[in-house]
Amino acid sequence: MVTFQSLGLTDTLLRAVESEGYESPTPVQEQSIPPLLAGRDVLGVAQTGTGKTAAFTLPVLQIMDRDQPRGKRHIRALILSPTRELAAQIDERLGAYSEHMDVRHRVIFGGVNQNPQVRALQRGLDVLVATPGRLLDLVGQGHVDLSKIKFFVLDEADRMLDMGFINDIKKVLRLLPNRRQNLLFSATMPKSIATLAGSFLNDAVMVDVSPKEMTVDRIQQKIMFVRKADKRRLIVKLIKEQKVKCGIVFTRTKHGANRLVKQLDQSHISAAAIHGNKSQGARTKALAGFKNGSIPILVATDIASRGIDVEGITHVFNYDLPNIPESYVHRIGRTARAGRSGVAYAFCDDSESGYLVGIQNLIGMEIPVETQNPFHFEGAIPKPGQKAGEMKNKKSSQNKKSNEDRPRQHGYKGKRGSNSSNNNRGQSRKPRDSKPNNNNRGQTRRKPGEGSGSNGSRNNRNSRGRSNNDSGNNRRQGGHRR
Ligand code: AMP
Repeated sequence: MVTFQSLGLTDTLLRAVESEGYESPTPVQEQSIPPLLAGRDVLGVAQTGTGKTAAFTLPVLQIMDRDQPRGKRHIRALILSPTRELAAQIDERLGAYSEHMDVRHRVIFGGVNQNPQVRALQRGLDVLVATPGRLLDLVGQGHVDLSKIKFFVLDEADRMLDMGFINDIKKVLRLLPNRRQNLLFSATMPKSIATLAGSFLNDAVMVDVSPKEMTVDRIQQKIMFVRKADKRRLIVKLIKEQKVKCGIVFTRTKHGANRLVKQLDQSHISAAAIHGNKSQGARTKALAGFKNGSIPILVATDIASRGIDVEGITHVFNYDLPNIPESYVHRIGRTARAGRSGVAYAFCDDSESGYLVGIQNLIGMEIPVETQNPFHFEGAIPKPGQKAGEMKNKKSSQNKKSNEDRPRQHGYKGKRGSNSSNNNRGQSRKPRDSKPNNNNRGQTRRKPGEGSGSNGSRNNRNSRGRSNNDSGNNRRQGGHRR
């Protein structure tokens, strides 16, 4: 059996891994750690939830711990991440794995006061985790010196390109010394990523743990348009009517997850919440109860759901639509594991129709409307030509924050999931099935005289710039993350 020890990790890291409760390495760790320890560049195709953070941080930490420089501390490893959430999560993991080491690490990202970050940089760091925008700002102000970097990690490279960070990445690369070890991780491997990888990796070892088959094909997706105030009654009805024994409900916020657990409890549905504010112990307990069937419903936020790999999940409920379209694919991939099938419901209220447009742009199809919906609310259906991403009624603070780390150039339109950002992936995302959907009530609200029936959906497709002749057969597999 492959163990962390047999991969060549030192006792210091073995202790850290053990206290994290990891029993054996995941496939991406098994394949990445040995070549990284041997000093090779690695190109990893792995999604979040595969254990890729440990796959790249453990060997980097080990080499850094071994090769401690004399004199003043300087940044020896740079980890670039597309979002502040992911950057913070990597930094948190670094803290856990380097617990028994003399390694100083720090995360920097935009949208917050830079002074504490500058002070940490001045005190000296070994590892810097950063989003590109803030990193370049601080480099420009002379607070960050990247000239002694030994390890450069580009995480979630496909998402970086989706978000329009390519020029920022190129700028960062120009600031790095020539002799260094490079690591690139990406959930998908479109041509644009292969080109980027080719531009800076040297004789890299390729590690591919991407799913060979798209789960999404076995998932029955359904959208339900509903008022926010009716979501609670709708979910209770669905869970009870369908006697859900193993289902996961996604909310956008931790607070929302807690509240929903209480509300489900009032309706005599046993549920547990799993999110970032819960202690590791509470998360483990909730997950164990869910796995052994004593808790039928798990209410989770996106970040917390990473790593949830329970085979028997029959239902996924998008209680709130995610503001990041890729999260939808990741969420629904929690069901239909290991060859089974599953149902994924998405509730869309009138403030979320823009998110739905973004999701449908990404997956290249309209999600069929569930007709059995006593709470159906026309007002939540996207308007003709509605753009992706924006909240219709209010701009959430989360949205505002998310944009702060965005590049300020090369035509980025500032909306998540817009067609322009999808095009950056260099993949064709075409409708899986160009036939009109009979179940579909016509998701686009029509103006008078705009026709009816399947025309509605065709108009909608045209409004997103897609051709009606697109055939699902052309669609590149592997473009979705689970
Ligand atoms: P990542 O793909 O890096 O986001 O990791 C997903 C989750 O898997 C995190 O919660 C990690 O703590 C956890 N994890 C990473 N490696 C292992 C392992 N070998 N065994 C069990 N859990 C792990």
